[in-house]
Amino acid sequence: MTVDSAALAIDGGTPAMPAGDPPPEWPVYDGTEEKALLEVLTSRKWGSTHGDVVATFEREFADYQQAAHGTCLTNGTLAITVALRAAGVGIGDEVIVPPYTFIATAAAALFVGAVPVFADVDPGTHLLDPDATEAAVTERTKAVVPVHLAGRPAAMDAFAELGRRHGLTIIEDAAQAPGAAYQGRPVGALGDLGTFSFQTSKNMTAGEGGAVLTDDEELAAKVYSLVNVGRVRGGGWYQHESVGYNLRLTEFQAAVLRAQLARHPQLQEIRERNAALLTSLLEDVEGVQPAPDDPAVTAHGRHLFLLRIPALAAPGRRDAALRALAAEGLTEVSSGYVPLHRNAALIAESKAIADRLGQPYPEAECPNADIVSQDTIWLTQRTLLGSEQWIRGVAAAITKVARSADTLAGTE
Ligand SMILES: *Cc1c(COP(=O)(O)O)cnc(C)c1O
Repeated sequence: MTVDSAALAIDGGTPAMPAGDPPPEWPVYDGTEEKALLEVLTSRKWGSTHGDVVATFEREFADYQQAAHGTCLTNGTLAITVALRAAGVGIGDEVIVPPYTFIATAAAALFVGAVPVFADVDPGTHLLDPDATEAAVTERTKAVVPVHLAGRPAAMDAFAELGRRHGLTIIEDAAQAPGAAYQGRPVGALGDLGTFSFQTSKNMTAGEGGAVLTDDEELAAKVYSLVNVGRVRGGGWYQHESVGYNLRLTEFQAAVLRAQLARHPQLQEIRERNAALLTSLLEDVEGVQPAPDDPAVTAHGRHLFLLRIPALAAPGRRDAALRALAAEGLTEVSSGYVPLHRNAALIAESKAIADRLGQPYPEAECPNADIVSQDTIWLTQRTLLGSEQWIRGVAAAITKVARSADTLAGTE
């Protein structure tokens, strides 16, 4: 066999990616973070009970997402948990979640004694399907948690309508979606509550951290209290009017987050531009399916870039494709989530709760999640911060590997 320029690098061909010019290391920071951290250090006000940096960031972030109220807390997992508790979701209630998401979306329901129930995703967008959600509603359902996966807003008009019709709380899991907007309105307060994560991998980070946003004053007060040992905003130190956790963010984290927030629009613009270029380079490639555009998605958070390559669904083939992509120079790529309705630990805990209460546990059928979890690859957020030349290389690498998908090892 002769080696030509179209040959895969793993077979001795020329790598598709440029040798130099990689995207910036993540997290991105500069002197703004350094200065802000030092200011907190020397102020000796390291906690939000004494300093005002957390409160300032809460206001700035809520404004950025056009929400009336914002409360920061330790992470995105507990942000969902606190949002559920604030909404009154508790023991034996059912919470409908998508199976194609990070495990925290479902685990949060278990943390309040509720049962996560999986409804299928739309195979084109990987997002929770409103019709499948409606079909999963029972008399025990209390809340729905649509996830703005990869930064792409879920169909919030349909979910808001569904919430009204069935009297359900809608909690947006916007961990991957700061800066995203649906029909012109930023995510976070499109539902009753919205939750965010500032963990290391996210588009805005302090290493760890999270936030809960809402337009509802009463819910906001409950969230504040849950995060602050049952205290009341503006109340006394030992005035505990409810039972709450201590989930406070530190002033150091908020100092970093203020700088990250200020930089976010600039980075999102780069991500948007690169995602548009990448989509245009890939949309006509046979066998490659990037998510279709949707006019209702007026701003995409562009946390990850998901694409389906149906030929990779054969056993072992997607792993072979990842090795082939790495040889082309593309290493920031993942095979994504194992769907949660297949996670034994989640199912066992859910069944244990349902059994104790003598409730049925609805076994989920999620064929779309099963399919997309086998043929999806995603590019990590750092990729979308690359140069134009880098993005063209990414497209060339994916095109090469997709064209050879049938020949990749792994057909058992
Ligand atoms: C990261 C993430 C979370 C959890 O956030 P942490 O801050 O890591 O606890 C929840 N949901 C989704 C969709 C996420 O991506």
